Amino acid sequence: MLERRHDSRRGRIFHAILVLPLTGLLVSGDPYAADRERMVREQIESRGIRDAELLRVLRATPRHLFVPIASRSMAYDDHPVPIGYAATISQPYIVALMTDLLAPRKTDRVLEIGTGSGYQAAVLSRLAQQVYTIEIVPELAKSAQRILRDLGYRNVTVQQGDGYKGWPEQAPFDGIMLTAAPPDVPQALIDQLANGGRLVAPVGLGWNQELVLIEKDANGRIRRRSAGGVLFVPMRSGGA
Ligand code: SAH
Repeated sequence: MLERRHDSRRGRIFHAILVLPLTGLLVSGDPYAADRERMVREQIESRGIRDAELLRVLRATPRHLFVPIASRSMAYDDHPVPIGYAATISQPYIVALMTDLLAPRKTDRVLEIGTGSGYQAAVLSRLAQQVYTIEIVPELAKSAQRILRDLGYRNVTVQQGDGYKGWPEQAPFDGIMLTAAPPDVPQALIDQLANGGRLVAPVGLGWNQELVLIEKDANGRIRRRSAGGVLFVPMRSGGA
């Protein structure tokens, strides 16, 4: 009898030790959840992005895991963050704006040029069916591939290579997004856009860039409009 009571108390203590840290983990499982919520409200919704599905995806994508550990505390701030190799993860609002302009549908196949951290590809992958993304820096292509795989983004395929050529084997694409700025939109990418497709790109040299939206109609005709000034890292030409 005495022995049994002793046992059950031991059991309780054991449970308390086991359960407390688990509860703690559940409550504080994502230490950046509040920062992310603030990012969406103060930088994105407040600037006019209204698409509910896009806002939901931005709330669910752990941006801090796509930046170098030393920069994690800046991950949700209102500016781009360096990720090494002269690349940056774009400012959250710019990711939202470009995704909103591209307006991917659940059935779309999307090509991204400039994988960088993999964050934009992760956001696109939750809105489209399949994402293909090309990165010219081998180390970035490798690390983006690893983080996307580890986080379970199974519909993203990363390729190391030169985005100027696009990905002819997988073309045509319903959407194409460039996250590095070429002097003008490469013709190969316009050619790989499906009829009814959309292409979003920062275009121009130096400080003189504008965000361009190209729409290809059902007959293959091109319409081009500007969506304002931006500043992106320049797109490198093959092998540079
Ligand atoms: N979309 C990225 C932002 C990347 S910054 C993100 O979410 O983090 C732009 C990236 O384009 C850099 O990583 C750069 O190395 C890459 N890049 C530059 N020129 C390129 C080219 N010709 N082909 C493919 N990637 C290129």
